[in-house]
Amino acid sequence: MRPTLVLTTTCFALLASAAIPCAAQGVTPAGATDTTNDPVQTLVNRLDLERYKNTIKGLAQFGDRRQGTKRNRDAVDWIEAQLKQYGCQNVERITYQYNPPEAAGRRGARPPATSPKGRGYAGNGPGGSRIFSDMREHGANNDSLAQPDPKIRAIDAEPSKPGERQEVICMKVGTKYPNEMYIIGGHMDGIGWGQAVNDDASGSAIVMELARILSMPDVTTERSIRFALWNNEETGLDGAKAYVAQRGPMQGKERPAGSGKYPEPKWLGMVQHDMMMVDHGPPTPDGKLSPEQRPGADINIEFASTSKFADDAMKLAFFWRAANEKYATDYPAAVGPHMTNTDSDPFKDLVPALSLRENERGSQIGGNWDPTHHQPTDVLTTFTDKDFMLGLTSAQTTLGAIGRLTGATVRK
Ligand SMILES: [Zn+2]
Repeated sequence: MRPTLVLTTTCFALLASAAIPCAAQGVTPAGATDTTNDPVQTLVNRLDLERYKNTIKGLAQFGDRRQGTKRNRDAVDWIEAQLKQYGCQNVERITYQYNPPEAAGRRGARPPATSPKGRGYAGNGPGGSRIFSDMREHGANNDSLAQPDPKIRAIDAEPSKPGERQEVICMKVGTKYPNEMYIIGGHMDGIGWGQAVNDDASGSAIVMELARILSMPDVTTERSIRFALWNNEETGLDGAKAYVAQRGPMQGKERPAGSGKYPEPKWLGMVQHDMMMVDHGPPTPDGKLSPEQRPGADINIEFASTSKFADDAMKLAFFWRAANEKYATDYPAAVGPHMTNTDSDPFKDLVPALSLRENERGSQIGGNWDPTHHQPTDVLTTFTDKDFMLGLTSAQTTLGAIGRLTGATVRK
């Protein structure tokens, strides 16, 4: 049977053209918000730019964290230790095998950075998008010498080997509906001989910061929340696919019977955070990163209009956008229909699924709006506080939305 999005079955208050469940604390059925007594605002206020940056730096110490290496396994250990320290419940590892056929690369070769058809050529981009320029993203860097920093080059030196892989998950267990949950994800692996700071320490740090804040002892939620730090995104979403294969059949089952415990609550939705900091606009004419975050920078919330749950995913996307208008301090959000190339993909025909990004994946990143993507320039020294703040704004947006959706409260 088709699971019903909680959003569509709860009583509604219309706020900024999107449906907000009025069962959530602090919202009256008429839509008027009690700002002073909104516990979700209290949670959002606990986000902090320096803490977010420190979590990104913690991940960056393991270089590009390429899957199948010691630096990747060390990063998994570090993430697990952090989540335990935050008091996140049910910290677990998903274990799976990754044995690619010989010489398998990423998801196929990328088009050249500039279209051979010349300037002004608009063509098809990833996820059913169109790219209205002749710029195209570069393929992933595989040249160690392209990394000018010898320390980073040394950290990234070990090549990937096939075999066993692990990724870490944990949970906030709901008080009223422990058998239902939303999944919040980011991917901890990277490529390209940098530090995988933007792709995707920036999204992983959002997941970790939300796990930290929602695990605080004075916070309760009615529904459960899964925090997932996917591995093997860069090889083709293999960590998320392993989770779907192993955990999908466990959904909503009480184990042991009568215990009130649900190791895998029923999935209500999945929201991925991937590349959260760089919206500098189109690249310079020579294909380099434009120097400043553009004044019109925004967060792009994408759903897949071709997915089985397109309508519910669209509603969820506008719910996220409304949460941005209510809770975000620095940057707005826009909704688009071409979610693609990230870990929400394996979920999109099972539950409503979204991705949050710095840019639209297809039309903008496909058009080389982020020249640090999979390049040696994806390192801490490339980014300024304006970039980190775009990531924190996404954290505010998702914390606001998930706080409302799960009925979060803070004990006074
Ligand atoms: Zn990514």
